[in-house]
Amino acid sequence: MVNSDPTDRRNASFYLTGRYLGNSVIVLLVLALVFWAEVIYVIYVFGTYLQGSVVLALFLFFLWHFCWLNLVISYLRCVFMDPGSVPVGFETDQFTRRCDPCSSLKPDRAHHCRSCGTCVLKMDHHCPWVNNCVGFRNQKFFILFLFYVSMTAFCYFLCALPIVVEAGIQKMVEAPATLQVVVLMIICFSFGLGLLGFSGIHFHLVLQNKTTLESYDDGERNPYDVGKKENWRQVFGPTPLYWFLPIYTTVGNGHDYPRNDKKEIPDLQEVIEDQWDRDSTGGEQTRFLSGYQQV
Ligand SMILES: [Zn+2]
Ligand SMILES: [Zn+2]
Repeated sequence: MVNSDPTDRRNASFYLTGRYLGNSVIVLLVLALVFWAEVIYVIYVFGTYLQGSVVLALFLFFLWHFCWLNLVISYLRCVFMDPGSVPVGFETDQFTRRCDPCSSLKPDRAHHCRSCGTCVLKMDHHCPWVNNCVGFRNQKFFILFLFYVSMTAFCYFLCALPIVVEAGIQKMVEAPATLQVVVLMIICFSFGLGLLGFSGIHFHLVLQNKTTLESYDDGERNPYDVGKKENWRQVFGPTPLYWFLPIYTTVGNGHDYPRNDKKEIPDLQEVIEDQWDRDSTGGEQTRFLSGYQQV
């Protein structure tokens, strides 16, 4: 089952703010790199394979574009999707933590982001690479983006490697056109390895039902860990077919989270109050994450 995408509380004026547009340069650079890779792949790599086996060339062409399209769609959805902004002045009887800048009550797991100027549901971190917070609504797209960058990068590297070996690296770097094939190989190898590790960390956090912010807490006292299967389902949804597709399948409303009553938690109220205290007085997280404001 595919969940409908909850209403984006941002409007057009948000995307026209100076801060947002200023930070969009990184997004444009990422997109430029991604589309440059597409051009190099189609012209040089696919073109070279076409001179040999057409079947192999077409197979690799579809493999590359499956990864590449999932990368682009995941990235754009992560960049432009509301991560789960808490409306200014949000009031409810359900929660007691209050955010001063927003004048709102904060749901559990929500934190204030100084860069976005709003509280974000299940805030993971503010990511400059997507110029957006990673939170309840776009967490799946962020993780898929990391995953598909590494898959796309390895796909390119493994496709280009035989071409470079056969032609000879000396000959490849002499011409500006084929030099790009080699340069992109080096970039893909670096990004592929780096982001494979990074996506692995995020898959691990999903299985533990922790955000990056929460990963700095004491791991033995996580009240949201309801088992790996259910933890995974909360972010990626109940249908395996959609797990690795950039379709919104996240379960829940971002306000209420099932808790593990069976797990030995010394005092659940104490855990919640600890979190409240850290939010109120400042804590370890500020050392690690820029843009995360303790309020
Ligand atoms: Zn706030
Ligand atoms: Zn943010």
